Amino acid sequence: MRISMISEHASPLAALGGVDAGGQNVHVAALSEALAKRGHHVTVYTRRDATELPARVRVGRRLDVVHVDAGPARHVPKDELLPFMGELADGVARDWSQRPPDVVHGHFWMSGLAALDAARRPESGYRVPVIQTFHALGTVKRRHQGAEDTSPGERRWLEPGVGRSADRIIATCSDEVFELKAMGIDTGKISIAPCGVDLDFFSADGPVAARTARYRILSVGRLVPRKGVDLVIRALPYLREAGFDGVELLIVGGGGDSGVLDADPEVRRLLGLAAELGVADQVRLQGQVSRSEMPGIFRSADAVVCAPWYEPFGIVPLEAMACGVPVVAAAVGGLRDTVVDHGTGLHVPPRDPEAIASALAMLLDNPALRTELGNAGKVRARTRYSWDRVAAETEKAYQLAVAGAPAGVSPMEGAAL
Ligand code: UDP
Repeated sequence: MRISMISEHASPLAALGGVDAGGQNVHVAALSEALAKRGHHVTVYTRRDATELPARVRVGRRLDVVHVDAGPARHVPKDELLPFMGELADGVARDWSQRPPDVVHGHFWMSGLAALDAARRPESGYRVPVIQTFHALGTVKRRHQGAEDTSPGERRWLEPGVGRSADRIIATCSDEVFELKAMGIDTGKISIAPCGVDLDFFSADGPVAARTARYRILSVGRLVPRKGVDLVIRALPYLREAGFDGVELLIVGGGGDSGVLDADPEVRRLLGLAAELGVADQVRLQGQVSRSEMPGIFRSADAVVCAPWYEPFGIVPLEAMACGVPVVAAAVGGLRDTVVDHGTGLHVPPRDPEAIASALAMLLDNPALRTELGNAGKVRARTRYSWDRVAAETEKAYQLAVAGAPAGVSPMEGAAL
């Protein structure tokens, strides 16, 4: 198949760990690569966010990344990108002018708008099937973040519109299917394909990052409040009470868009909290870490903690499991599918530092349990979450979309969005 991916803010070529660069970048990059390996021709369209980026980058055999001029050629927060989706669709449609693809796959709601717009133009024959992965849903974000949600107001109706208009939706976890249904989307057109993990790269064997004799708890991800890193800091005093006073909490990620740690208000907030709780000596902020260093850092941890308020999927627990490290995870969203309670880690209720501390104490107290859960995590990651398996599931969703695509959707339907 000739596959177009659209990922407006999340380039597969971007550095990770900044405010808007995380799982979606990994997902688009790895899925595209896995589909190309399966023999498909994949082009990823993303917004040009720096002047020096070339128009087209050949990433591998059958895999290209195209930087489309859509808005200013600098970083723009994703919640301010909506006005540029028309230009993005123009650039995509221009690139298709010789030959439209067999399918177009939008990532995130705004890319879905651009995908539908480009797919339903006369030059695209009005009928390129559109597949959509939301990665995150506005309804869920609003429920948890309330007034702090910076999404544009239009998301309220445009996102469900993308869901209704796309030929097929790929949900990344079972929880998302319920959310999509609640948004009024026909469950008959939803497929489930999770995110995957690069198993050659994230494995238990290989170099281990330097560490001290202290227990090491690891938190990895973009430093945004909803990731709940403050909850892990709040767990440290409880862990002390349980007799674990020498524990180190290593926090990877953060540093804002500049990558400079001190410039990140969330970093200042977390350090302030650690000082207030008297645990500053236990908390180490590492800032953004390159992909190549991540497996060694995972291997150096006794446990990985993921304590988000909500999580559309969460690739970090999969990476930890693939490296054989047990995961303490809030029982929310995708973490309920990936982490098996008392199987590959321990579930805790969301927003509960005391429960995080109890789960960590149970693990730190019991090396045999850590090994058992870590080993089970390796097996689970290997058997269920290889990118090749995810690509095969995605391919099935593409085939269903091609088979069921309407014969000719009028451009007005796209406009009605
Ligand atoms: N990551 C990284 N370096 C960092 C911080 C994060 O490589 O400094 C990676 C991390 O290993 C994972 C991704 O960014 O692959 C985060 O994905 P996840 O789905 O957990 O969270 P999201 O950012 O999508 O909310």
